[in-house]
Amino acid sequence: MSKFSDFNFAGHKALIRVDFNVPLDKQSFAITDDTRMRATIPTIKKILGDGGSVILMSHLGRPKDGPEDKSSLKHLVKHLSELLGGTTVLFANDCIGEQAYLTANMLRPGEVLLLENLRFYKEEEKGDKAFAEKLSKLGDVYVNDAFGTAHRAHASTAVIAQFFPADKKMFGLLMEGEVSSAEKVLHETKKPFTAIIGGAKVSDKILIIENLLEKATDIIIGGGMAYTFMKAQGGHIGGSLCEDDRLQTATDLLKKAADKNVCIHLPSDSIIADKFAADANTSTAPSNNIPDGWMGLDIGVEACGQFSNVIKRSKTILWNGPMGVFEMPSFQHGTKAIATAVAEATAAGAFSLVGGGDSVAAVNQFGYTDKVSYVSTGGGALLEYFEGKVLPGIAAIKE
Ligand code: AMP
Repeated sequence: MSKFSDFNFAGHKALIRVDFNVPLDKQSFAITDDTRMRATIPTIKKILGDGGSVILMSHLGRPKDGPEDKSSLKHLVKHLSELLGGTTVLFANDCIGEQAYLTANMLRPGEVLLLENLRFYKEEEKGDKAFAEKLSKLGDVYVNDAFGTAHRAHASTAVIAQFFPADKKMFGLLMEGEVSSAEKVLHETKKPFTAIIGGAKVSDKILIIENLLEKATDIIIGGGMAYTFMKAQGGHIGGSLCEDDRLQTATDLLKKAADKNVCIHLPSDSIIADKFAADANTSTAPSNNIPDGWMGLDIGVEACGQFSNVIKRSKTILWNGPMGVFEMPSFQHGTKAIATAVAEATAAGAFSLVGGGDSVAAVNQFGYTDKVSYVSTGGGALLEYFEGKVLPGIAAIKE
């Protein structure tokens, strides 16, 4: 693979896999959140600035049966042109076929072509080799800047890479940032390494916790999933969230952690509520002694202090999942306290990576985005990376 920033794109046609899977308004097809588009603009600008041209390919939505208007990438053309400072963006209403090839062929330096939705072809998700080869003919350099789909072995995200020589395939700037941040946490780890895992379900996070037991010094478990661990240890959790079929898993994880000398931290106290609602009556209770008729919806004040102390002495921090129902103001104190501790540790020199849907939303909502080292754009891809899986989109470039 080549290094993106060292590559001179003058005279090259760069075929970039981007993640433009943005939400669209159902009626007007206006883009309601353009974060994913903005994330890849620096990559596109560098290529255009060098004197190269750009062919962009992406999926959008979940089209079932071929082309459909609501999943057409044509809805993105105008906004993309604006994000690129008024650069004209051409559109091909098919991602392969004659029009796409002719337009790509005729592109001049500084020009941009956006291809129609890759998933209008079933071959994309199947990772079809012949389809990938057809796509590869559209450019002479392949750039993967779609971390969000790096865990999928699709035609445009992984299979296509084999049709480019080693020096003509590379990560884009977004992907480079994602991969190097994830590697810093998992492979260039400065100890102590604290993983903060929250959110609703133990079942979603078992694999990541198991893999982190090999790497972390401390694992903080908060959010709804903490109560399954509490019950597994004989605690009384009232009406708190619990996966009864995962009690044994929780016990096994705690035992493995003890065997490996990894310190697991569970919240000593909780903010409890008499119903799952923003206007519920609230109180505080030990997390292992919650009265019937009440449920734990956030970590308590004591737990905030307990967790913050661990975080502040860490050199590497990974944070996935909120500490409570942070969408409701009464239950966001814990998640805010953890965000503050992560920001303080970062200011003191720790490397902190926040990733996975809801923790990213929380960090953004509380205004901490610039106070942590890196906020990942990849939900599923990031989780799979920390579960220890090989991501096909990364492996295909590195081969
Ligand atoms: P996840 O997608 O698994 O990371 O879970 C995120 C969701 O977990 C958020 O919507 C939170 O509201 C929810 N959550 C966090 N803590 C609790 C809790 N104690 N009880 C119920 N839901 C929770």
